[in-house]
Amino acid sequence: MLRRLLTQTSSRRLLSSKTPFFSKPSLSPFSSLPSSPDPPSSASSHVEESGSSAAAGTTISVDRSGLFNPPDHSHEPTPDSELVKHLKSVIKFRGGPISVAEYMEEVLTNPRSGYYMNRDVFGAQGDFITSPEVSQMFGEMIGVWTVCLWEQMGKPERVNLIELGPGRGTLMVDLLRGTSKFRNFTESLHIHLVECSPALQKLQHQNLKCTDESSSEKKAISSLAGTPVHWHTTLEEVPSGVPTIIIAHEFYDALPVHQFQKSPRGWCEKMVDVGEDSQFRFVLSPQPTPAALYLVKRCTWATPEEKEKLEHVEISPKSMDLTQEIAKRIGSDGGGALIIDYGKDGIISDSLQAIREHKFVNILDDPGSADLSAYVDFPSIKHSAEEASENVSVHGPMTQSQFLGSLGINFRVDALLQNCDDEQAESLRSGYWRLVGDGEAPFWEGPDEQTPIGMGERYLAMAIVNRNQGTPAPFQ
Ligand code: SAH
Repeated sequence: MLRRLLTQTSSRRLLSSKTPFFSKPSLSPFSSLPSSPDPPSSASSHVEESGSSAAAGTTISVDRSGLFNPPDHSHEPTPDSELVKHLKSVIKFRGGPISVAEYMEEVLTNPRSGYYMNRDVFGAQGDFITSPEVSQMFGEMIGVWTVCLWEQMGKPERVNLIELGPGRGTLMVDLLRGTSKFRNFTESLHIHLVECSPALQKLQHQNLKCTDESSSEKKAISSLAGTPVHWHTTLEEVPSGVPTIIIAHEFYDALPVHQFQKSPRGWCEKMVDVGEDSQFRFVLSPQPTPAALYLVKRCTWATPEEKEKLEHVEISPKSMDLTQEIAKRIGSDGGGALIIDYGKDGIISDSLQAIREHKFVNILDDPGSADLSAYVDFPSIKHSAEEASENVSVHGPMTQSQFLGSLGINFRVDALLQNCDDEQAESLRSGYWRLVGDGEAPFWEGPDEQTPIGMGERYLAMAIVNRNQGTPAPFQ
């Protein structure tokens, strides 16, 4: 089945390697800076299978998972941004510090000046790059997974395909293009994009080549597959009662986390306060906080070895609640969800990190100008799903490398390599390595600082499916 899907997958987008993946020496050992302008969104940089006309594609990858935050942050006085003023006033009127989770939520999604709300943050001119932006093969392989699940679901005539946090919409573009030969599948789809950022909603609309139905931009038709596309800001807004497939790629890592630290007083929540120098600083809460209930719950899922070593714990109640909502939906409507993110198959200690222009910066510096993200706690997703619905089963996590490898990305890259020029071939090989490799690419002959870094072991994949669907590919 997988082989058949792979040979039939349509391919019309190849990244060109006119400009190399990494084009300028990096100041950071973990990242590289571009010397040339940002490529057009990768959705528009595809070519026909003949490989005749590729647009230039410069992409930069940052493996965010192996890094630590610098200990200090800058104290140079700068005028407060709108978001900084807002955060300070919340702390002032609350009469005390706010949780790390509240800080993170405001920084990322404050409607006026949150990090994601007003701009395109991806790619060479943005702050970081994600797998769909690295290579078309990522979205295509997710397409293979989706068609396999749809077949296991009994090929329903109507399916809600929901993507949480679609970024530029590139994964969905590649999924639709890759599966376009499966007419029964694409005709069954109603796409629902859950996106809080008006700027990114607009970009998704553009990249999916949507034309509006009526005057409302919240519903449109994608000319890529004639598919209806709807936008929502939360999963709850998506209509239920229809078989459902949910994709969440690098969505969970953006959900707010609370941090707890063991102290002589017992477990205390780490909070964000404003110091006498008017700078943000971390403090420990003097009394128990409501999130402690979730800490207790999370600890009941920890192994005895984990519990023994715990000094600092990060938990994401928003992720637990979202997973419950997903599991209930899948449990009653049928279908499944795929979650891919960087994280751990274990309890998380302290992983919150900030990235600006492909470099790690202090979490408290100039909030709103850097991405904040945290490792995803996969056991907590598994337990939350199992707790929410008896009708679902949870599979994985397995590494992204195993996941894409078992779905047949090797066959896919071979097929694409048959029809491309030398530059495109180099770009495909680097992209392939970044998706499934571990560490530096051994075949790389270009400048050291441009060596593609594999993310295949750092990213994990997990599926939550309705029990009627059996075990999803490739978790058998
Ligand atoms: N999946 C994409 C983008 C990942 S970045 C990719 O892999 O390229 C996270 C995405 O989730 C962005 O689109 C961001 O705007 C969106 N997002 C973050 N927090 C959100 C929230 N609370 N509700 C809805 N969307 C959110």
